[in-house]
Amino acid sequence: MREKGMEKIESHAYDFVTKRLAPKAIPNDGKQTPMRGHPVFIAQHATATCCRGCLFKWWRIPKDRELTRQEIDFVVGLIMAFIKKEMEI
Ligand SMILES: [Zn+2]
Repeated sequence: MREKGMEKIESHAYDFVTKRLAPKAIPNDGKQTPMRGHPVFIAQHATATCCRGCLFKWWRIPKDRELTRQEIDFVVGLIMAFIKKEMEI
């Protein structure tokens, strides 16, 4: 049950990162990730992967281009590590 829940959360994480973070130009960058709601949103703020500004500031991922497949995997990895850690408490 828990495994299945994690897979679902991970697929949401990929979905959010691909649509809200990966494109080259994001009109509302800095505001695209709500502060509450989905556990992925909360994890994004906690891991500084909520917007391209934070990705650049904390992870040195340049803003002016699309994210690569590897960068998307990296971001989703950070999000999932945070969520797994939170759930063990
Ligand atoms: Zn941010």
